[in-house]
Amino acid sequence: MNTAPIIIVGAGHAGGRAALALREQGYAGPLLLIGDEPHLPYERPALSKQLLLDSQPADACHIGSAEQYQTLAIERLSATRVSAIAPAKRQITLHDGRTLPYHKLLLATGGRARQACLPGAGLAGVQLLRTLDDAAALRPRLQAGQRLLVVGGGFIGLEVAASARQLGCAVTVLEAGDRLAARALPPLISAKLLALHRARGVEVRLGCQIAAFRGDGSVSAVELADGELLACDTVLVGIGIQPNTELAAAAGLAVGNGIRVDARLRTSDAHIYAVGDACEFPCPVSGQPQRLETWRNAEEQGRHVARSLLGAADAYAALPWFWSDQFDHSLQLAGQLQAAANCVTRPLPDDGVLLFYLDAAERLQGACGWGAGNSIARDIKLAEMLIRSGKPLPAAALADPASSLKSLLKGVASV
Ligand code: FAD
Repeated sequence: MNTAPIIIVGAGHAGGRAALALREQGYAGPLLLIGDEPHLPYERPALSKQLLLDSQPADACHIGSAEQYQTLAIERLSATRVSAIAPAKRQITLHDGRTLPYHKLLLATGGRARQACLPGAGLAGVQLLRTLDDAAALRPRLQAGQRLLVVGGGFIGLEVAASARQLGCAVTVLEAGDRLAARALPPLISAKLLALHRARGVEVRLGCQIAAFRGDGSVSAVELADGELLACDTVLVGIGIQPNTELAAAAGLAVGNGIRVDARLRTSDAHIYAVGDACEFPCPVSGQPQRLETWRNAEEQGRHVARSLLGAADAYAALPWFWSDQFDHSLQLAGQLQAAANCVTRPLPDDGVLLFYLDAAERLQGACGWGAGNSIARDIKLAEMLIRSGKPLPAAALADPASSLKSLLKGVASV
């Protein structure tokens, strides 16, 4: 009989989901959820969208209520940082020096927004966006007529740019690369994103190098590498995240681009597991290590690891899926886009598009959709089913907007 608890470090999306899933799956032993933020566990996607647009209150992001955690006997320590792990003793140390024993440990430490290492990065008004507190600090700065400079043309930067523009701000996006969101998106979709932002009045500068943030106490301009000064009231730095792996590395756990786990989400120590943005896990298709920074990954790994902690041996095999909403457009990606042998394009009404990625045997590996409203959600759902079918598909039918994906699915189901 174990009297030491399962301890979860990190009360964000994956940590909160794992705690609730452990109870759903029948774990009745002691359970402790420790997070350094003062909030209940919460989902982050609304921070750059609905929360800035005032279309959703902050508590709608919460995963479970305080009463729910209490009823389920999930002990919560908030505003509490875990500062060390001693795997040999199966013990953690809190920031105040207290030590706690664990039976099993789950690391759900997520990532932190990367700060620009440039002069003036500490000026007031140079903002990052990762937490509810960051969103609360950013929102009052986005009043109509205010000038926002966004550093980084990735998803967080572009979503904030779209929200700020809708609030009436003058918005400029500065991107160092030659296209938007290049790490995740094919060139065609980057081009469509660029066209949308420009059409809605966002100034986008590509190939733009920044030298410094200028201002007297508070930021008033960004200096570019060629000396040009761009005046602003607020800067949002959106240049990616740094996975929180230091705790694991200091404890001697294997760490690559994230905390290394096996297909059951177990680290190099048999009693310690890791999930979410912080972990690097084997891709179910290629077996290659990968780290994902997506809502679905946090959600599904949170649920899966609860089963693993309770002894299940099945591998984590959820299909990667990501979405981004900007203005009245939506983007969705499912499966793997890299390493495809062939990409098939299906045009959609109103300049929308679906891209299908096939392997050499014409099996669908990934799909990417872009369009106004929610038009592509159903198509990507069907594409996910086509990917899971593992059957070869006719490229001509995928490319033809008149050929329904539903009938394609029926066709492969009957083979
Ligand atoms: P987190 O939710 O970051 O939770 C980790 C928690 O651990 C944090 O609270 C952290 O403070 C805490 N912690 C770290 N170290 C310690 C320690 N030593 N002791 C105690 N606590 C610790 N994904 C999509 O798919 N679509 C979207 O549209 C989308 N939009 C997003 C918008 C924004 C603004 C952001 C920030 C993210 C967005 N994401 C989106 C990504 C998604 O929210 C993340 O992938 C997800 O939150 C990862 O969950 P996680 O539990 O791994 O990490």
